[in-house]
Amino acid sequence: MNTTVKFKDMKFNTKTIHGGQQHDPSTGAVMPPVFQTSTFAQTSPGQPIGDYEYSRSSNPTRSALEEALASIESGAKGLAFSSGLAATDCLLRSFKAGDEIITMDDLYGGTYRMFTKIYKDSGIKFHYVDMNDLDNVRAVINENTKMIWVETPTNPLMKLADIAAIAKITKEHNIMFAVDNTFATPYLQRPLDLGADVVMHSATKYLAGHSDVIAGALIAKTAELGKQLHFQQFATGATLGPMDSFLVLRGIKTLHLRMQRHCENGEKVAQYLNKHSKVKTVYYSGLESHPYHEIAKKQMSAYGGMVSFDFTSEKKEDAISFLEKLKIFTLAESLGGVESLANHPALMTHASIPEEKRLEVGITNHLVRLSVGIEDIEDLLQDLEQALK
Ligand SMILES: *Cc1c(COP(=O)(O)O)cnc(C)c1O
Repeated sequence: MNTTVKFKDMKFNTKTIHGGQQHDPSTGAVMPPVFQTSTFAQTSPGQPIGDYEYSRSSNPTRSALEEALASIESGAKGLAFSSGLAATDCLLRSFKAGDEIITMDDLYGGTYRMFTKIYKDSGIKFHYVDMNDLDNVRAVINENTKMIWVETPTNPLMKLADIAAIAKITKEHNIMFAVDNTFATPYLQRPLDLGADVVMHSATKYLAGHSDVIAGALIAKTAELGKQLHFQQFATGATLGPMDSFLVLRGIKTLHLRMQRHCENGEKVAQYLNKHSKVKTVYYSGLESHPYHEIAKKQMSAYGGMVSFDFTSEKKEDAISFLEKLKIFTLAESLGGVESLANHPALMTHASIPEEKRLEVGITNHLVRLSVGIEDIEDLLQDLEQALK
């Protein structure tokens, strides 16, 4: 049964379960077996028995995940990596010294570190612009511009970039357009449908969804770009192992259910914090007061489970004491799992960004980021209440 043709017609909530999947042809196993093997037998030199030769190049369990990724993001080719940053690294290998990349002034700390500490030294020039005004993008485009990279919503300030509007610009200038879709997931936003060329994920987060694996993904809109990226992945080797591929694939099967609850709980937490006297600003694109609310309404089907806020007191100690008092929210890096997590970006996830740069974009020392999980909302609100006291 070849489902890769059929899945194009499925609704999203069916694709998460069946997209690109087939029963194991040798045994009928309903779930893809974990093909824990590095290599595959050949009958004659260069004549493998099946489609596989060596697991760095491809592995059936990883292939099953990659088909699912392509399906849910409406792409031609999915690729699974050993981490989100490995996926970004693979894409960045498409560029060479002298090329220029335009990106946002608020990015995941690890992405920023890779751009500034690894690829800047290899001669690629990065422009960090405020994408709220797309004239800032147009102003730095020149004949060396090869890619626009956006993260939307951003981590941790929930800034948005207008994907369709940027896609128009990149098409006019023949520039590649990549979107880090980690926070939104394809449940809320599908960048390839809006005109992007490639989507990146930290599959560690919502796609896997259970905080039990580190994984990354690239999904290419065209088979041609997919082939080029697969070559770069194969040639450099940061692939996802079979067991981890299995875990991410299993996570994706409940993505729609989890995201629905993440969104419901996220909205309630944002509204609760927005009314609290100890809270200064809540960063959540579902709030009408959020500066990017209109873009969010346009390109996302709901607003997700990530909520950041800072304190009226503007004291770092207040943020720290709040975080120490939480009981159900766990103080930990990462996000997107079923359990609620809390994080202090300046001291934790974004510590690699120099303080003056952090403060310039608004990542203050009294900013807290919550990954709102799928627990009972009353328990979550009670936990916030007691910790804010
Ligand atoms: C976590 C994260 C990454 C990096 O992914 P890893 O799986 O940790 O390598 C990239 N972008 C965003 C938005 C993230 O949250």
